[in-house]
Amino acid sequence: YCGMVAIVGRPNVGKSTLLNKLLGQKVSITSKKPQTTRHRIMGIHSDGPKQIVFIDTPGLHIEEKRAINRLMNRAAASSLADVSMVIFVVDGMTWTADDEMVLQKIKHRNDDRKIVLAINKVDNIKDKEALFPYLSELGKKFDFDDILPISANKGTNVQRILELAQTSL
Ligand code: GDP
Ligand code: MG
Repeated sequence: YCGMVAIVGRPNVGKSTLLNKLLGQKVSITSKKPQTTRHRIMGIHSDGPKQIVFIDTPGLHIEEKRAINRLMNRAAASSLADVSMVIFVVDGMTWTADDEMVLQKIKHRNDDRKIVLAINKVDNIKDKEALFPYLSELGKKFDFDDILPISANKGTNVQRILELAQTSL
């Protein structure tokens, strides 16, 4: 048995880094320059009890004033159709209008798909107390199934994400 899990978030939050860490290899290009990933990248995790296809989903933040953007956005949204869990990746230091846009796109789907908030780059945060106000604000915006502080670079809590992905299938 197998299933799919989507990784979503605005550019530069660490989606590709997380995908690579989850898979234990470099399948997706990571970069300081936003929008390095222009199309979907998928990778299969087969070490657990069930196989999981992880999908790195760029483009959910794009404003829809232009037809081409609506098209790109629809492509991104359609890759969410069959997943059992969405990993919403944010940067622990900053919340932006693009994060808000991605959240709007994923939260209106009324089905039993899990939505996990992954607060990334916590290795950058010296004062861990600074995370708490951020967390409670996000908790008010949406009732996430799980909230995890992670470091995609260092691998912090990445195993926990794998466990959640396994149980979501
Ligand atoms: P994407 O656009 O969401 O796919 O983001 P990338 O995976 O390409 O990462 C964007 C930048 O953030 C790169 O410079 C990464 O090295 C960096 N980055 C990703 N994860 C982490 C993390 O856990 N900690 C830190 N400090 N930097 C990270
Ligand atoms: Mg990327």
